[in-house]
Amino acid sequence: MTLEGNILTPEGWFKGELMLRRGRIVGISGAPVNPDDNDAPRIIPGFIDLHVHGGGGADLMEGGQSLAVLARTHARFGTTSLLGTSMTASREALIKAFQDAGRVMASPPEQAADILGMHLEGPFISPDMLGAQPPHARPGTLEAFDELNALAPIRVITIAPEIEGHMALIEVLAGRGVRVQLGHTAATHDQCVKALCLGARGFTHLYNAMSGLHHRAPGVVGAALAHADYAEMIGDLIHVEPGGVLAARRAIPHLYVVTDATSAAGMPDGEYRLGEHRVFKRGDSVRLADGGLAGSALTMDVALRNLIHLGLTLAEASQRLSLWPARYLGLSDRGVLAPAHRADIVMLDSNLEVQQVWVAGRKVIE
Ligand SMILES: [Zn+2]
Repeated sequence: MTLEGNILTPEGWFKGELMLRRGRIVGISGAPVNPDDNDAPRIIPGFIDLHVHGGGGADLMEGGQSLAVLARTHARFGTTSLLGTSMTASREALIKAFQDAGRVMASPPEQAADILGMHLEGPFISPDMLGAQPPHARPGTLEAFDELNALAPIRVITIAPEIEGHMALIEVLAGRGVRVQLGHTAATHDQCVKALCLGARGFTHLYNAMSGLHHRAPGVVGAALAHADYAEMIGDLIHVEPGGVLAARRAIPHLYVVTDATSAAGMPDGEYRLGEHRVFKRGDSVRLADGGLAGSALTMDVALRNLIHLGLTLAEASQRLSLWPARYLGLSDRGVLAPAHRADIVMLDSNLEVQQVWVAGRKVIE
């Protein structure tokens, strides 16, 4: 199969043809172009979302086929790889959710994003920084991690480093190749630096549910801006306003975008579930009954357009939605359009609306 349009490659934009065969990109031909000069489709790498709780009405914590439903929903908006993300919950509720997620991964859904594994967001977080997480925060142990990891592989963990025993856990998990992210944490700057030295690599929804930056108490945000190479940020411009996005982009070279999407993503306004909570989608935001933000209704195509609105080029925005999350997880087969890479592709019109999506060369939408 051959796709025609403005193709974003590691060497810049080319107007021409991209050839796919057996799920891979086999060739790209064409001439250098500025895509702003024409109305032909923009062909860019599929989006990689490392923080997704739900979509299409399904919440991962409900178990059953919810992970399949959310992977199909987000694929329609251009996401071609994702991590299913759990909520802080009781041991029993987490085991049930991971069992069912593992079953979905064992027979992956069609017309859906590739499920890379799990992001364990809590329960090993600070009870003082729950955000929208239910009150089941508790100190983590390797046994508790391994119990869940055996049911569905955990690629990313969000952890509060200041909790008793967590520094040692961070060192062990990072040594195994798990990406350890500091989040839902009231840690000091110095505690974060220690965790980074022990192998922590990222920060979970930067700015949200973490100690902020004061010039004499630089906190988690200060540690991220001063030292992080990678961090995730919710790209809805509601959790973080434009100035906060631009400050982090200047400080953190591989800042990347996630949705933190709830079951309300891709759905009309109304009442939805997020773990144990009832949440309410109104327009672009999802809130608890008390008005606090509770995840998002964001999809990655909207996040892309938000970054463009802030003045980023399409090439840079694409890196922050595809290449940096791939590199962060150590995935070298995706995140760019180049020969031998997976054919995970989004085709946009000149207004950056999604027209077509391919996951491993198979078309998701017309
Ligand atoms: Zn989350």
